[in-house]
Amino acid sequence: MNPARQRRSTVYGRGPFYITNTEILNKLRMTNLTRTTLDRSSDMDITIDDIKFIRLVYQLAAESASLNYDPFAAILVQNNELKYKSLDVSVVKSNPTLHAEVNVIGEYCSNNKIFSLEGYTLYSSTEPCIMCSGAIHWSRISRVVYGVSQEKLKAVSKGNQKPTCKDLLFGSGRTQVIGPVLEEEGMEIFQRYPLIPKQERHKQIFLDQ
Ligand SMILES: [Zn+2]
Repeated sequence: MNPARQRRSTVYGRGPFYITNTEILNKLRMTNLTRTTLDRSSDMDITIDDIKFIRLVYQLAAESASLNYDPFAAILVQNNELKYKSLDVSVVKSNPTLHAEVNVIGEYCSNNKIFSLEGYTLYSSTEPCIMCSGAIHWSRISRVVYGVSQEKLKAVSKGNQKPTCKDLLFGSGRTQVIGPVLEEEGMEIFQRYPLIPKQERHKQIFLDQ
């Protein structure tokens, strides 16, 4: 194995096909392409717009944390146009189901009286959980691009191993799932805003007054 890949695999505990953020950016910069296909998996098609929107969703996740919400965010994009955005409002609204992905889907559909998000891309700062993957399935979203993987998030959340969004949505034939994208940039948010369990944060906000 190439020594650089060997080192990277050791550092990140990933397989030999893990692509770093730097590699993604270098590849885009060097080739000056508007679209590139990475070799981690066959569906790993990342576009320049994906990079732009993932960075936007990271900005929103940091904003969410700075407002004392949880450090997560999601946006809906149609034809490369931002349609709706949401922070993670679950704790402040005392509603455990209002993760950013569920909230962005629910509010956008409800506000616009639509029931299917076919043709839309959902960008999420972290890989959608089981509940959010269900919402993605039922809203028929065509494409999901996420930043930080559940696997990487586990390192800061100290949570248990979770099923991947790709595994959860595989077989539906509806949704292409792409990620992680610019994962190191996303992880920086958790260095600035250390993750506190939601239940604990809820107690801090509502019961400790
Ligand atoms: Zn979720």
